[in-house]
Amino acid sequence: MEPSFIFPLGTFQGNSLFIKREDLLPFSFGGNKARKAELYFRVIEQGGFDFVVTYGSGSSNHCRVIANECARRRLPCLIISPLESEDGSYNQQMVQLLGADVRKVPLNKVSEEIDRILEELKKVGKNPYFIKGGGHGNIGTEAYLQCYKEIQTYEEENEIYFDFIFLASGTGTTQAGLICGQLQAGHERGIIGISVARKNPRGRDIVLESIRSYMGRGVAEEQIQKATVFEDEYTEGYGKKDARVSALIPEVLRRYGIPLDATYTGKAFWGMQQYLEKENIKGKNLLFLHTGGTPLFFDGLRGREE
Ligand SMILES: *Cc1c(COP(=O)(O)O)cnc(C)c1O
Repeated sequence: MEPSFIFPLGTFQGNSLFIKREDLLPFSFGGNKARKAELYFRVIEQGGFDFVVTYGSGSSNHCRVIANECARRRLPCLIISPLESEDGSYNQQMVQLLGADVRKVPLNKVSEEIDRILEELKKVGKNPYFIKGGGHGNIGTEAYLQCYKEIQTYEEENEIYFDFIFLASGTGTTQAGLICGQLQAGHERGIIGISVARKNPRGRDIVLESIRSYMGRGVAEEQIQKATVFEDEYTEGYGKKDARVSALIPEVLRRYGIPLDATYTGKAFWGMQQYLEKENIKGKNLLFLHTGGTPLFFDGLRGREE
């Protein structure tokens, strides 16, 4: 398998579609959380931290990967979860299997509880590291800047240029990393984030903030604004079911043998279809960034997906 995990999928609505399979990254079912976690744990190892605290819901891909990274290093892992999140997902079962300690608190008490726990750990002589939910932050952004470079290398080696990259956008870190890569390279192309949760302007603002935070003052605001496309019309909210997305998932499995889920990649794929139609895009090279979430595909099969 090629190290970039980029594969052609053939003609798609009059365009040429390629996919980058981040879901095939080789640790703990991969996905963008695995790519981000790799960098976070480099920092954790180098900094001599001995305890990892993070935040996420029971069905979170992020929590699964963090729990697995901790387990392989025998680092204690504490996960703060909102009381409101549902039980029974495969990710949640994996988190348990991996031995992470999950503490459920009401959503409005989360940030208080995180501060309290970090203080408590320090008091008993621990050196804890806190990873934000979803691996949000400059380290997560850096991970996707590296991903952008892999895409660039593939393009150079295969003499192709992707006019558009489509992806599921949540905390915005993945999209921000790709855009930072694009800005650094001085490329022009559409990087189209399909929102899985937030509406605009807030959704887009968070992507913009992540870009500014990573790039510093080196880049003109105008360029950042121009490069940031965040489409919010293909989501009813985080984890909300959409019959059109649910219908698309078996279709994509049949046609390409690729699993999507209803929370992230299914929405992104559906959003891509709609966007191409809306903008009347034809004859272009498209890259769909598959951001992972394989356990959620299986949750969907047993009707347990959020
Ligand atoms: C977390 C996640 C996303 C969103 O990534 P962000 O960097 O938070 O925007 C997209 N797809 C999958 C499968 C995810 O787990």
